Amino acid sequence: MKGIRERPHRLLGALGRRERRHVTQINGVKESMSVKPTTTNMTDRSTSSDALSSPATWDKQRMRDNLVAHFEGKVRRGEARVPVERLIMQVGRDSLFQDLLARWDGLDGRQRVNAWRDLLRLCDRHAAEVMPTCIRCGECCRHGSPTLQTEDLDLLRANRIALDQLVTLRRGEPVQSQQADRPFFLLDERIKIREGTGTQECVFLDSEQFACRIYQDRPVQCRAQACWDSSATQELAQQPYLTRRDLFADVPLLLDLIKEHDQRCAFARLDGAIKKLAENGAREPDELLELLNYEEHFRDFVAAQLNIPEDMRPLVFGRSFADLLPLYGITVRIEADGSRVLVAT
Ligand code: SF4
Repeated sequence: MKGIRERPHRLLGALGRRERRHVTQINGVKESMSVKPTTTNMTDRSTSSDALSSPATWDKQRMRDNLVAHFEGKVRRGEARVPVERLIMQVGRDSLFQDLLARWDGLDGRQRVNAWRDLLRLCDRHAAEVMPTCIRCGECCRHGSPTLQTEDLDLLRANRIALDQLVTLRRGEPVQSQQADRPFFLLDERIKIREGTGTQECVFLDSEQFACRIYQDRPVQCRAQACWDSSATQELAQQPYLTRRDLFADVPLLLDLIKEHDQRCAFARLDGAIKKLAENGAREPDELLELLNYEEHFRDFVAAQLNIPEDMRPLVFGRSFADLLPLYGITVRIEADGSRVLVAT
């Protein structure tokens, strides 16, 4: 028997938290830039050097960086109704911006100061007057994949969206929604398009081209998505969500096994085993380890019996307990002899 090495943490917050990066097309050339710490206004954020400097001294890159910082400040203060990425792209397409950018290097100090004022006014106007249309900046797709609804079933049946690109979130599973700050536990299952490993980015987003690879066949939630107005998505949330019961209605044996898996490997059991472990410290990891082994064995056994390919398992059985343990501050380490050790992260 291997013991847990440290006391597990409480359930950690965000699923798939990641460093934010912005991609800007501000001069017609895509450039990726890390977002630096931001402050409440343009000059504050520019740190000591920019706070004291004048636009007259900025080169083109610094002007662009400071403009992005200005966008970030507006979004953070709730002065813009759309994400930073969208503002960047919208302003980047404005002819006034393009003209000023093209002439920036040739402007003298006084002209740059005036040009900077024009740019701030331009930014304010775009933040206030958002075009009620999707400009395909990709920002929504980078921050979460869609949850499927029964209306999407035809897309799956017609193989417009491959089943091996889906994942089931099971009843009782801890999840993080884009709207909520804290994770919550699902009352019923959901089927989602998968997200990239370690990110919240939809697997169908082509992040180089800012394009959806299945745009013509995108799910209903993506069609309703509007970063400037959430009313359509809120309305859609009242419609039924797709479940494995809909998807595998013609395969009763599989549905029976899914039900069996849900009962025997319910999240309440995982939660109970983790709480017990937390109460007893490192002394009694057996229940949790046994549950992990059992769940894995169940998946492997059923998959082998029914010939379920590896890449379909996240849809058929959802995410494994072992995959979800990091949410609880625990990982599983496999020892040289094949045994497992729980390690706090
Ligand atoms: S399916 Fe397409 S539109 Fe929907 S989130 Fe993914 S990339 Fe974006």
